[in-house]
Amino acid sequence: MGLAIADYTEFAGTLQAQHPSEILEFAFREYSPRIAISFSGAGSVALIDMAAKLLGAGSFDEPAFRVFTLDTGRLHAETYQFIDKVRARYGIPIEVYFPQPQAVERLVREKGLFSFYRDGHHECCAIRKVEPLRRALASLDAWITGQRRDQSPSTRHQLPVIQTDPTFSTAERELVKLNPLANWTSEQVWAYIHENDVPYNPLHERGFISIGCEPCTRPVLPGQHERAGRWWWEDENKKECGLHAGNGKGYGRAESGSIMERTPRVCPGLFARADLVTWHSNDG
Ligand code: SF4
Repeated sequence: MGLAIADYTEFAGTLQAQHPSEILEFAFREYSPRIAISFSGAGSVALIDMAAKLLGAGSFDEPAFRVFTLDTGRLHAETYQFIDKVRARYGIPIEVYFPQPQAVERLVREKGLFSFYRDGHHECCAIRKVEPLRRALASLDAWITGQRRDQSPSTRHQLPVIQTDPTFSTAERELVKLNPLANWTSEQVWAYIHENDVPYNPLHERGFISIGCEPCTRPVLPGQHERAGRWWWEDENKKECGLHAGNGKGYGRAESGSIMERTPRVCPGLFARADLVTWHSNDG
């Protein structure tokens, strides 16, 4: 069992200034084995790489650390291949969570396969992402995401490195969420990926930056923010899928600690290099 939430502020200032690898070390020390990395994009694979360097690869039967992901049923073929590539590269049994078939069948029967273009993405995301994530988190005390502040000027600019999960904690059960890359920029993530030969989704080389489900993701133009390629038919301020719905609502008790910096930060040099792209899928 990890730290009580009240102790977060003691660590907040220190963690805030630490390298993501050091934040991971802290996280695994405090919360193993009831902690897992959410595999959802380029940043989270960088975290998997750091975790493998910290803890060793382990084996499929006895993994050194846990990784889970969400299969919405609507991902690109390239993303499925990428998930398997990461599995093979690090020798880890990625725990894949699928939506409840009855819920998907009911939605499709009543509204068709593309209701999100008419009704907004929240109903479909609730079925295909949020409910499976809730099941994935049920066995954990803490989870690790690849979220960064510079991913969304409207919803992630206040993201702390550690917080009480504002979406999935309940009165009976406190869940900790760690965002070791919160203070890193897209450039830093990609520098790490290239320097450490970390695998990434080949869709990045075709102009995709933020990659989610196939019908809800498109490439962006130079100069556009990465979130412009997600749910482009909707209002900019509604572009969270429910996995991190609390991003704009405060940070539980961690809010009172020095963990929070309120400086908005948008990736300034997104297209400064041709190969400088970012992927995050199930990060929402
Ligand atoms: Fe459905 Fe699109 Fe959300 Fe995927 S991103 S779960 S297809 S609305």
